[in-house]
Amino acid sequence: MADGRWSIAVHGGACRIPAALQVPRREGCAAALEAGRSILERGGGALEAVKTAVCLLEDDPLFNAGRGSVANADGEVEMDAGIMDGATLDVGAVACVRFLYNPVEAAHAMLREPPILLVGAGAEAFARAHGIAECKEAMRPAAPCGSGHDTVGCVARDREGHVAAATSTGGLAGTLAGRVGDAPLPGCGFYAEDGIGAVSLSGDGEAIARTLLAARVMRALETMNASAAAAAIFKPMARLGAEAGVILLDRDGAIGIAHNSPHFAAAYAREGLAPVSAIVWDNEHAR
Ligand code: ASP
Repeated sequence: MADGRWSIAVHGGACRIPAALQVPRREGCAAALEAGRSILERGGGALEAVKTAVCLLEDDPLFNAGRGSVANADGEVEMDAGIMDGATLDVGAVACVRFLYNPVEAAHAMLREPPILLVGAGAEAFARAHGIAECKEAMRPAAPCGSGHDTVGCVARDREGHVAAATSTGGLAGTLAGRVGDAPLPGCGFYAEDGIGAVSLSGDGEAIARTLLAARVMRALETMNASAAAAAIFKPMARLGAEAGVILLDRDGAIGIAHNSPHFAAAYAREGLAPVSAIVWDNEHAR
């Protein structure tokens, strides 16, 4: 299974990106990709690469995750994140957290613990007990960029052939307090399994969860190439009149990227190939 080639992709959300933000978002994705890429290049693991890349995107106020999170209907930030180790099928996720700079770090710390998802104060207490940086005051909402969904995510395959996925979000602007979307739910906003591949999504969280979109993409990856598997998002999203974008890689590290949103900031790199970043992606299998 391990052919020794690493592979990585990151995304900064499926949405309409205002003109002034198109280059900065693309550059933000390229910077996160580079952080993950250098870990894999040095022989590091897929899990470490996805956590590091997503932390960087959470730290970038241009993306709706971590510091860039938008406000819910009460004017407050509630963040969700999930991460999965394809080698062990361990999952860690947090939801509705308000006091963490990097929700994906708390999710990562949960990987080897029995619960797969902790919410709110429980998740924050867990993070505190594991020495994860907390903000003194609840995270303040970023000004909405008028672009809808800007969740972040990463998938990676290391030289050992292990895969991992992570997704992190500030949710959808203006939703009810306590609302949780697809991002921290395995099989919905992310999934990873060695021998099959890894996937991270962005878009209308309720529609993604109702159609188990990550699970569908994983099933497609069992029999199709990466590009065809990415196209598995189109029918379920069209059925619900919803938007989504997906990054994935297959067991060998081949990358697939697809979206039915106007833009999808994303970037990928594969050992031996130059990195690529863009905000619009063609999928030959689209529709
Ligand atoms: N999927 C995320 C959610 O519904 C939003 C996004 O992708 O930006 O919470």
